[in-house]
Amino acid sequence: MIAATCHCGAVRIEVPRRPRTLTDCNCSICRRYGTRWAYYKAAAVKVHAAARGTASYVWGGKSIRFVRCARCGCVTHWEAAKSGVTDRMGVNARNFDPADVRAARVRRLDGASTWKYLD
Ligand SMILES: [Zn+2]
Repeated sequence: MIAATCHCGAVRIEVPRRPRTLTDCNCSICRRYGTRWAYYKAAAVKVHAAARGTASYVWGGKSIRFVRCARCGCVTHWEAAKSGVTDRMGVNARNFDPADVRAARVRRLDGASTWKYLD
C-alpha cells in the first residue's frame, strides 16, 4: 500500500501499489490542474477525508467528479459522478511521494482532441 496526501494532509488516499504508468492529459481540465493520473479500480482505493473536507467539480457530461481538498485546494482524484460510468478512479499522482512514482512511465494522452495516447 502507498498513500497520496494533499498539501495540508486533510485528504489521504490509499492505493494497493505503486503506479506503473501515469497519464498526462491535455484536455481542458487536466492541463489546467497540472495533474498526472494513476488509474485504479475504484474498489481498491480508500479516500480518507472529513465529511466536508473535500470539494468537487463536474462539467460537460457530468460523468466524473474532480475532487480537491477543501482546505489547501490540491486536486486529489476523480471518481464516477453517477453509477455505471466507470469502475475506475484517477488518483492525482502529484500527491504521492516522488520516490513512489519515480519509475512510472508517463504517457501523454490527447484528451483535448483524439483521446489517443501520443506515444
Ligand atoms: Zn489539504
